[in-house]
Amino acid sequence: MDQSFDCWLQNRVDLLKNKGLYRTLHTMNSSPGPEVNVNGENKIVFSSNNYLGLANDNRVKNAASQVAHEFGVGSSGSRLTTGNTKWHARLEERIAQFKQTEAALLFSNGYLANIGVLSSLPEEGDVILSDAFNHASIIDGCRLSKARTIVYKHVDLIDLEQKLMETQKADRRFIVTDGVFSMDGDIAPLDSIMQLAKKYSAYVIVDDAHGTGILGEFGRGTCEYLQVKPDVMIGTLSKAVGTEGGFVAGSKELIDFLINQSRTFIFQTSLPPSVCAASCQSLEVIVQGKQLRNALVTNIWAVTEGLTKIGYRMKGTNTPIIPLIIGDSYKAVKFSQMLHEKGIFAPAIRPPTVPKGESRIRITVTAEHTIEEINQLVDACELIGNELSVIR
Ligand SMILES: *Cc1c(COP(=O)(O)O)cnc(C)c1O
Repeated sequence: MDQSFDCWLQNRVDLLKNKGLYRTLHTMNSSPGPEVNVNGENKIVFSSNNYLGLANDNRVKNAASQVAHEFGVGSSGSRLTTGNTKWHARLEERIAQFKQTEAALLFSNGYLANIGVLSSLPEEGDVILSDAFNHASIIDGCRLSKARTIVYKHVDLIDLEQKLMETQKADRRFIVTDGVFSMDGDIAPLDSIMQLAKKYSAYVIVDDAHGTGILGEFGRGTCEYLQVKPDVMIGTLSKAVGTEGGFVAGSKELIDFLINQSRTFIFQTSLPPSVCAASCQSLEVIVQGKQLRNALVTNIWAVTEGLTKIGYRMKGTNTPIIPLIIGDSYKAVKFSQMLHEKGIFAPAIRPPTVPKGESRIRITVTAEHTIEEINQLVDACELIGNELSVIR
């Protein structure tokens, strides 16, 4: 092996280390839940996306294991060859019903759903207007598109309207946004965005990875919560739904188009049928999961209230994503290490995941956390916040 190859890479990683941006892996040695064995020690987890606890739900696990015994563990091909089973079809029907659209299409995950839509749907001559805080998979999808991408300021309707006015010559305009922003937990003003889209004849694409299962009377997501029907609804089954897979929901024409043109759909082995069965079961639990969502809301409120009381300025977004902005990357890492020493697992989130100077602990709370666990988190944040002069 060429030594200079490894040297070159080592230098590049060293640069990251110098900026406080070095990342390492942690190993979970037990099932997902509020308490997890991390690297051999039991920790209370305040950073998982398993908001409703469904990733370890017995009903969901049983559905997966039954179908795994019947259908095997791998799907053996892409959907258009040998990888299409009744469980894929059933789940797509279920998702369409859940999102109240004509049809839906499964992808292997949300990342690939975003890439598959954004790289195929907008054409050359079109413009994509993208929120500055959109998820990396939306950004990558825009990069692969032949359309021009223009970034508008985060949830800034004035800037968005300005950019809609400036792009009237484009063939088509697409506005693309997270429903719930993954690192800030705030909700996109979809009702106003839809109005602007109507006024300027633009199409709207919403990635509701974090709203799905959480927001709205039946947990259908941000669009149910704000009573809107965008042209394209993208989502993932890997957050509140607790399984794995991405999806697009919309008209029959949209889904038919994606089956024919979306490269991340066409050229990928389909999800295992057992995982699809698990998702079907999980969506069942979610639609009837008012109690789970109520428990979650109580916990969101308890964390936000607790942190506000001890002096943190919280945004209060009503979603399970509760960012504790630290600023400096080193300090955010230090904060996370000190939490770890106090039995709490919540890693630091740093650039490029968030903007420079906005490193944070992305606290997430789930329906399963107890009030004792939440109090332990708040007490730890008070001690550490004072020691690191984060609380002003
Ligand atoms: C997590 C996430 C995705 C990716 O979904 P996966 O199923 O994990 O690939 C896409 N968009 C947003 C906003 C996310 O938070």
